[in-house]
Amino acid sequence: PVPALKDRSLLTANAYVAGRWVGAEGGKSIAVTDPFDGSLIAHVPDLGVEAVREAIDAAAVAQVDWAKQSAKERSAVLKRWYDLIIENADDLAQILTAEQGKPLAEAKGEIVSNAAYLEWFAEEAKRIDGDIIPAPNQHQRIMVLKQPVGVCAAITPWNFPNGMITRKAGPALAAGCTMILKPAAQTPLSAFALAVLAERAGVPAGVFSVITGEARPIGHEFCHNPKVAKITFTGSTAVGRWLMKEAADGIKRLSLELGGNAPFIVFDDADIDAAVEGAMLSKFRNAGQTCVCANRIYVQEAVAGEFTEKLLAKVSAIKLGRGTEAGTSQGPLIDDRAVAKMEEHVVDALSKGGKVLAGGKRSALGGTFFEPTVMSGITQEMKVAKEETFAPLAPVITFRDEVEVIAMANDSEFGLASYFYARDLGRVWRVAEALEAGMVGVNTGMLANEIAPFGGVKQSGLGREGSKYGIEGFLELKYVAVGGI
Ligand code: ADP
Repeated sequence: PVPALKDRSLLTANAYVAGRWVGAEGGKSIAVTDPFDGSLIAHVPDLGVEAVREAIDAAAVAQVDWAKQSAKERSAVLKRWYDLIIENADDLAQILTAEQGKPLAEAKGEIVSNAAYLEWFAEEAKRIDGDIIPAPNQHQRIMVLKQPVGVCAAITPWNFPNGMITRKAGPALAAGCTMILKPAAQTPLSAFALAVLAERAGVPAGVFSVITGEARPIGHEFCHNPKVAKITFTGSTAVGRWLMKEAADGIKRLSLELGGNAPFIVFDDADIDAAVEGAMLSKFRNAGQTCVCANRIYVQEAVAGEFTEKLLAKVSAIKLGRGTEAGTSQGPLIDDRAVAKMEEHVVDALSKGGKVLAGGKRSALGGTFFEPTVMSGITQEMKVAKEETFAPLAPVITFRDEVEVIAMANDSEFGLASYFYARDLGRVWRVAEALEAGMVGVNTGMLANEIAPFGGVKQSGLGREGSKYGIEGFLELKYVAVGGI
């Protein structure tokens, strides 16, 4: 249902195009529903290519002035946006949980921890330093300037409806770029609420627009409109691949945060309780619907019994329910497609010799609720080991030694997150260096923060978000040679 808010003005069904609020107004619209019970929350506009072009045109005009503002001025606007998000975090969490389903505490955690990207990049805006390089002869000087890439188009997913936006807008706006955002159709209300606060913070009209509508034509326009310099996308590898192909004609800059298939390895010298704790966080957070979720849990033979037993005890304590209810630790999955994929992975594993130790079926709560599941007897040939399940399914695979598990962990076209638990120092270094992943969590199940570079290798993507490196994707280098000295 429609969430109850302290500040009602944060809940709007209007898109934000070039500084104007645009409703469906009898035109085509998209229904936004609560995944808890399928009830209607709002109808948002299904905008066509005309509106996208209008937003892009405005972004191109606004970009010139935005980039001209001093870094300190841009920084102040971003900092105000950050402050407003923090002040309104409870309301934003209500909106997020209503359209996405995750427990309220997780929603607020997402909002606060990702708003930090606005704060961080507000600070980084002031440190976009250039270079002076010693010239090859005495009559020249060589300078390197860093300039904004220009108009950026962002496409974000439903699993972090709020956080994936501030992560992209922070570095883009700090660098002097402007942005047109297309949020996921399932979760546009969080994006609109962020736009309300952006406007309130003083982000100039045209600098940040939010468009809702059919994904493909909007994506197509982003890829082919000559005024768009860069596309930044978080979502599936399939869509990322399509965008990369489409963007090839215009040689557009790309940042892609795509799918993962994270290995989570528990060695026999690990602190098993800590490993179970980490596995719970990494696997079951957001009902398993994050791109850095542990997808394959590898446990060394000698500790497999103890680890699995302790994991089962924790899993049995997970409480399914409505995200807004106190005590809920797992909400519904986003939609029927997500449930179908989870079921497919369970059935495939069962048919190849896997065993269900907990869960394995839809919950009695109905809808898109699925019981948190633990399976054993899993092998590399099963779908659950090859594909991203994106659901609360923990498959346990046993292994003999380090060499074997590194080969199994790296046997994937993905390379986003990876995790392992071990105490032996030599092993920690060897494994951290050998894992083919953009991120390695050693004795921790949590990786993302604004200070560190988030991103993947292989088919998990291009570029990094967060950290001092995260702004580079929104900047171009310009070399200026000054002669005649
Ligand atoms: P998921 O399967 O998790 O929904 P997607 O990659 O399909 O992941 O969706 C992530 C985002 O990409 C969403 O905002 C979605 O609307 C958008 N999207 C999906 N298909 C396309 C496309 N062809 N062009 C542009 N955006 C797309």
